[in-house]
Amino acid sequence: MEKKIIIVTAPSGAGKTTIVKKMLASMPVLAFSVSAATRTAREGEVNGRDYYFMTTEEFHTKIDENAFAEYEMVYAGKYYGTLKSELQRIWDNSQIPMVDIDVKGALSIKEHYHDKALTIFIQPPSIDALRTRLSERGTETQASLDERLAKAQYELSFSHEFDRIVVNDELERAYEEVKNLVNDFLNIK
Ligand code: ADP
Ligand code: 5GP
Repeated sequence: MEKKIIIVTAPSGAGKTTIVKKMLASMPVLAFSVSAATRTAREGEVNGRDYYFMTTEEFHTKIDENAFAEYEMVYAGKYYGTLKSELQRIWDNSQIPMVDIDVKGALSIKEHYHDKALTIFIQPPSIDALRTRLSERGTETQASLDERLAKAQYELSFSHEFDRIVVNDELERAYEEVKNLVNDFLNIK
């Protein structure tokens, strides 16, 4: 099987995790690429399923070993990265990795994999909608909410750099659009 990759990126709160989960549930050929991260696990998150949670020291060792396809300090002091071994594990299993990463990480994977990678930018209908979604998700403090919204403004300015932009206004509609794009990319009729 060809080593293709689907990359979904968006400002935090745009709905990419929600859309990615729906895609994974409906397309068994896709497998979630579990990233390494140095942030603490949220309630309900499982090591090895949601992230490979690591200490900063462990993460630095992986950087030195050239183990990452890409990595970024996504938030102050918090590293996130796509492990090459994770992508390979999924291809070895005859599946296509679905990668949920930040804007910069998405651009660096695209630079490396070119036509083998499809990059989809999930755009929130507005910054106000983003604020509401993040507040209602209930996972952020005021400080981390402000940090995520400031970063979102910046990330929105990169939307044109991706292969496709999908506006997540109504979830079902946005999901169908992503699904069609992925089917086209994988040549699934
Ligand atoms: P991200 O992974 O991009 O940070 P999430 O998928 O966690 O975003 O979505 C952020 C919040 O917004 C979640 O509580 C989710 O249920 C909600 N959400 C996702 N899509 C929509 C939508 N189209 N309309 C309203 N709320 C949405
Ligand atoms: P969260 O802390 O909400 O789980 O994720 C924060 C941000 O980190 C999200 O935008 C998510 O897409 C991004 N992210 C998750 N994994 C990776 C990764 O492996 N590399 C990069 N560059 N960003 C990631």
